[in-house]
Amino acid sequence: MRTRELARLIGTLGKLPRDQRKTVAAELSAMESCASSTDVIETGMPTRPDCPLCASRQIVKHGRCGGLQRFRCRHCNRTFNALTGTPLARLHLRGKWLGQAEALRDGLTLHQVCERLHVAQSTAFRWRHRFLALPQTVQARALIGIAEADEMYYLHSCKGQRHGIGRPARKRGGKAAKRGLSGEQVPVLIARDRIGNTANFVLGAVTAQEIRTVLRPILPADTVLCTDGGTALAAAARHLDVEHRPVNLSRGIRVQGAWHVQNVNAYGSRLRNWMIRFKGVATKYLANYLGWFRALDRSPRFSPDPVQLLALAVRV
Ligand SMILES: [Zn+2]
Repeated sequence: MRTRELARLIGTLGKLPRDQRKTVAAELSAMESCASSTDVIETGMPTRPDCPLCASRQIVKHGRCGGLQRFRCRHCNRTFNALTGTPLARLHLRGKWLGQAEALRDGLTLHQVCERLHVAQSTAFRWRHRFLALPQTVQARALIGIAEADEMYYLHSCKGQRHGIGRPARKRGGKAAKRGLSGEQVPVLIARDRIGNTANFVLGAVTAQEIRTVLRPILPADTVLCTDGGTALAAAARHLDVEHRPVNLSRGIRVQGAWHVQNVNAYGSRLRNWMIRFKGVATKYLANYLGWFRALDRSPRFSPDPVQLLALAVRV
């Protein structure tokens, strides 16, 4: 638009009544937010990406759709954009995605998200789980130096599922019928090194074999593993080909020089506190929440920029 036409448009805006000016301002702000989301989504995308559907390199640009660059694969003839193959593909209202990332960071309830973003509860629910899906991949591939491992337990929950749960429904976030460990508890193994690389595993059962299977790939041979000497964990550690330093908490010994599990315990209590706001999470989504917490906990002051969070949700 030419400068003179722009000046005329701005002049016209000045004549609008206040409520219409507010409508225009809201419209502009939504457009700006949508453009910001698009920038985040497309940042780092190669100019000629490989086809996510058939991995071919014969790619041509194919116009823009919904503000995003569209590509066409000459091999399989299908089109794609930066969101194809990510959990955010085909979600609407991109202008509100940064707001959604912010809402997750702030730990808002679904009800609060609906109010803040003016979206339906079903949308808020879908967004939450699509956004939660990716940080799961932000899992340490290897722990370095001294690593600590510990288990935590979550109540098995079929939240949101109405049929076939095989027992009477519990009140929100309720308690297990039996005390202590039982089939109602879902074990989670947390492994973390002293520089903050963290991995979590939702286990089927706390057996030495299962623990070994998940820990072995992330523990290089020169790692020293500290555990609280819990039976299965200690048994697993003995067969992991790494140096194992059990700390005997039952005898009141918490720290033996550099050997302790205080780092992983502190992480566990931060995680427990953060989870309280969700009032019990469905077991099938547990790994998603754990992944999201890993992303939050890595950020300074526990407050990552929504832009980083959105980027995390679209990077595979
Ligand atoms: Zn293709």
